Amino acid sequence: MTVNHHILNRRCWIFDLDGTLTLPVHDFPAIRSALGMIEADSDILQFLASLPSAEAAARHARLIEIEYELAARTAAAPGAGRLLDRLLRRGARIGILTRNTREIALHTLGQIGLDGYFTSADVLGRDEAAPKPHPEGIEKLLAAWENVPDETVMVGDYLFDLQVGRAAGTATIHVDSSCAFRWPELADLAVATLEELAEAIANDVPA
Ligand SMILES: [Mg+2]
Repeated sequence: MTVNHHILNRRCWIFDLDGTLTLPVHDFPAIRSALGMIEADSDILQFLASLPSAEAAARHARLIEIEYELAARTAAAPGAGRLLDRLLRRGARIGILTRNTREIALHTLGQIGLDGYFTSADVLGRDEAAPKPHPEGIEKLLAAWENVPDETVMVGDYLFDLQVGRAAGTATIHVDSSCAFRWPELADLAVATLEELAEAIANDVPA
């Protein structure tokens, strides 16, 4: 990893939850099929929004059941606690932007032992802001923190996390344990694990 001091010194850190702060357990093709979706690559939330309301409500309920099942099976990603400790120690603001619901996100944080790091107000789900890659969630967190995109990093494991950072004008960090790094043009920094990021922050000398 090339250490980018400018990025690591930023004061606001916004994380994706599933597959970033947690170990990846979401099998999205299986979720799509459980929800009766036909197109393999389509966006689950957009699909639900396109349905008549009664049908959408039933499938939303099923999605929430699936998300609770997944929350019960996951664990904190390696290095997550250490990274969050280090960021808080240096006075950073930290928040979560997820396409999950805030309620399930808070439940998941409790399950994986990271609930002490985040206030509920700093965890935005799909009911608090337009889903990623729409930048509204980042804009809301930064308004609440009275801060700006130039001081902010968006960290995530998927395309939407990098796109939302670009859309909001933050720096982006891609976490990918496979090291495939599929979207290099959208990532300012790429790491295999949060442990690697925690180490880089520990070794980084503030400018
Ligand atoms: Mg994710």
